[in-house]
Amino acid sequence: MKIVDIRATTVTVPLEAPLRHSNGAHWGRFVRTIVEVEADNGLIGLGEMGGGGESAEAAFRALLPYLKGHDPFQLEALRFKIANPTASLYNNRTQLLAAIEFGCLDLVGQQLGVSVAELLGGRIRDEVPFASYLFFRYAAEGHAEIRTPEQLVEHARSLRAAHGFGVHKLKGGVFPPGHELECYRALADEFPEDRLRYDPNAVLSLAEALRFGKAIEGLNNDYLEDPVWGLEGLRSVREQVRVPLATNTVVVNFEQLASNVLRRAADVVLLDTTFWGGVRPCLKAAGVCETFQLGVAVHSSGELGIQLATMLHLGAVLPNLTYAADAHYHQLRDDVIEGGKLAYSGGAIAVPTGPGLGVRLDRERVARYAELYRELGGYPYDRDPGRPGWYAQVPNERFADPTVSGNITL
Ligand SMILES: [Mg+2]
Repeated sequence: MKIVDIRATTVTVPLEAPLRHSNGAHWGRFVRTIVEVEADNGLIGLGEMGGGGESAEAAFRALLPYLKGHDPFQLEALRFKIANPTASLYNNRTQLLAAIEFGCLDLVGQQLGVSVAELLGGRIRDEVPFASYLFFRYAAEGHAEIRTPEQLVEHARSLRAAHGFGVHKLKGGVFPPGHELECYRALADEFPEDRLRYDPNAVLSLAEALRFGKAIEGLNNDYLEDPVWGLEGLRSVREQVRVPLATNTVVVNFEQLASNVLRRAADVVLLDTTFWGGVRPCLKAAGVCETFQLGVAVHSSGELGIQLATMLHLGAVLPNLTYAADAHYHQLRDDVIEGGKLAYSGGAIAVPTGPGLGVRLDRERVARYAELYRELGGYPYDRDPGRPGWYAQVPNERFADPTVSGNITL
């Protein structure tokens, strides 16, 4: 089997409502680049990449001269052909590599008639549990604003009822830590049996992180995720707070993983199939984590069904996945795969069983959402439409005002 073409299509899929985060917002939609890796036998392997609200079409087109004629089975060679570590000092293609790896795994699985989970060692679970991923949100058609503890709890209650979540993740770093602590405690009060995690995307000062961490020590926490920036910052928090620390920001490659093993700063590593350069590097990293008794979880970078499938196949084969995975997925209004969005049941999503990734493109939906991208263009992920002129600093001291309704018109 040989690669004959690489096609990329940018799509915009609407979210229920604009999602606020510590660096800005998702402006009511996700912009994703869908990749099709075509082989000489007519099979098409699917990949997907995000990119902070922008298209990556041109970057994928530029890879064709490197990969025309490449055998998709040659997955280690693929890494060195487009992302060897020294060339990557100039041309960092880690995330592009990830999308191409997804496509190659999909091709190999289809060629052999087995799912990606089977290729990766065989599934040890048929479904992957997920956390509800709770954001502060601006109001949008059919969806009210989420800013206060009451609004947040109401939202979590309806998600729990609809999808069966037993783990809740609060994405913070938007409002002053005192307000977000009140929100987190309200979740703990409402769902005493459920587990919780808080992630302010590394914007707290060390002092605020210590205050927040100590205040939640008695709650049913999975972990405190990236309260401050950097391995040294996390290590300082870890020395004084009795809650496991997690990161998806500063352990995203093997050098950083080695540092974290030698001098532990994070107890849990959130594996991201994009950030790490594919599904297989995540599996290798999980093996290191298993050896050193680090926890692993699955990070969400705002995926549609193709990348979600990579997360499901990864989750299916990880023996040490003891935490529910993260996904923004329930925030989406639709998907580009056949049959529409994959369904949650009992807080979990079934691992696809078909050959390869087990998901196929719905051409009508791809065309519709490619048109929506052409209409709306990209969006600045690191800006907040409700706070003109504001930009995030780390640590941040200029939080949004929780007493002011932040309704916007996009
Ligand atoms: Mg995070």
